[in-house]
Amino acid sequence: MDENNIIPMLKQIKSLSSAPYKLEIQGGEPLLRFDLVQKIYDKAVIILGEGQFEFVIATSLSLLKDEMLVWARSKSVHFSTSIDGSHVIHNSHRILRGGDSFELAKRGIEKIRQCLGDSSVATVTTVTNALLSYPEDIVATHIQLGLKDIFVRPVSPYGFANNNGTDEYDITEFMSFYERLLTILSKYHRYGNKLVEHSALIHIKRILNAEYSGYADLKSPSGVVLNSLVFNYDGRIYGSDEARMLQKSNPKIDFSLGTIQSPQFKNSQFHQSVISQSFSLSHPGCYHCAFQPYCGADPCQNISVFGEPVGDKSLSRFCQYHKSMFKLILNHLHKEDDVGLMLKEWVYG
Ligand code: SF4
Repeated sequence: MDENNIIPMLKQIKSLSSAPYKLEIQGGEPLLRFDLVQKIYDKAVIILGEGQFEFVIATSLSLLKDEMLVWARSKSVHFSTSIDGSHVIHNSHRILRGGDSFELAKRGIEKIRQCLGDSSVATVTTVTNALLSYPEDIVATHIQLGLKDIFVRPVSPYGFANNNGTDEYDITEFMSFYERLLTILSKYHRYGNKLVEHSALIHIKRILNAEYSGYADLKSPSGVVLNSLVFNYDGRIYGSDEARMLQKSNPKIDFSLGTIQSPQFKNSQFHQSVISQSFSLSHPGCYHCAFQPYCGADPCQNISVFGEPVGDKSLSRFCQYHKSMFKLILNHLHKEDDVGLMLKEWVYG
């Protein structure tokens, strides 16, 4: 990113929302330009105000240095990293030329926890084909790393385009993995190893708390633009990371909200059309669905798969995933079996 864009970007963030702000720096690999990351943080302190924002660096941790942790100490800086399985499975997905990506991520997590505290690092797990048969593997890896939280999600349809479909699987396969994962978590839970899975927690919060709307996927109208903005390295602004990915695969159509120097928040036809067509209450399939009050809309995924923002719910991966999650969770909560009791403890403590 051009350094001249940092101040206008932060001023736009301030003019569009109110504190507390959340700034997430994503790459590529942000630690390659740690000097720029520091500049963004320093300017954010001036423009947004000290203590008014959370600062998250999404990184593989492969380039983490001790001096970065010294800098992060006493600041509201968090790290987010991917753990996609144990050693072999993670390395088969996160290929690092000349390096061991799992070992570097593991060492990075340990260092962050030692220097900044347990809550300063969070993980995200993308379930690849290689992990589908081994739910116990990802749970054991998180326990061994001393983590208290795990966030598991299926690979997105955008990912298929990037890997020639080699990680494509259907949602029923994912759900059988996920059901086993919850059972394994409940067994650990019974013996005091309490690991909270955040995809389940997000779905439960949506059911139990009408005001909970922190998760862009489960919002109607869609969270595009309304929940987040992406300031791209080339100066263009997008309403979500999915909109940015759409742009990548469709370079001839403009999915942006203009540029940092010349934003088009009010007159972007693409975003007006996407938001106005993302009220799931009026979508065929959704309007009579029991889960509609808790569910959301993902117009960018629908454009990517169906070529238009509403989509066919009978064929939609988004619909299959969220419907299956709601059903699974409500079944366990109703039965109050070991998984159901664990889910209740996650919500009520
Ligand atoms: S589960 Fe499917 S049909 Fe039901 S509201 Fe969500 S997207 Fe619509």
